[in-house]
Amino acid sequence: MDTNTLAQLRRKLTRERAELIATLTTRLREDWDKHCDTLTVTELIKESQGLPGAIRCLGERLEKVDAALCAMDLEIYGLCADCESDIPLDDLINDAAEQRCPQCRASNYYHHDPATRRATTGPRKSV
Ligand SMILES: [Zn+2]
Repeated sequence: MDTNTLAQLRRKLTRERAELIATLTTRLREDWDKHCDTLTVTELIKESQGLPGAIRCLGERLEKVDAALCAMDLEIYGLCADCESDIPLDDLINDAAEQRCPQCRASNYYHHDPATRRATTGPRKSV
């Protein structure tokens, strides 16, 4: 992957992470009376995990986005989390936080909640 594309994806992920942190912090405060302004990303994700529905999805997305940014720092970004082959660039442009190659996504397909299946983006990571 060329450095321009990588820098572009990093900016996209950094922006999404900031938005997710802001949304989660607000929702936790307004809906659950939890004050999370000083929490780290990891603590925020933990807070969201015990909660229902949408807010847990936000936490899961934050976890994924944060993991992708960590992978960039470790210079393993773009490698499949399961088999370590290259994830196609188109997939990363479609979802910069994608962690699996198409083969591994397909082999995980039937373990996922049917509600999260979408033909265009593939199944989401299970937790
Ligand atoms: Zn793979």
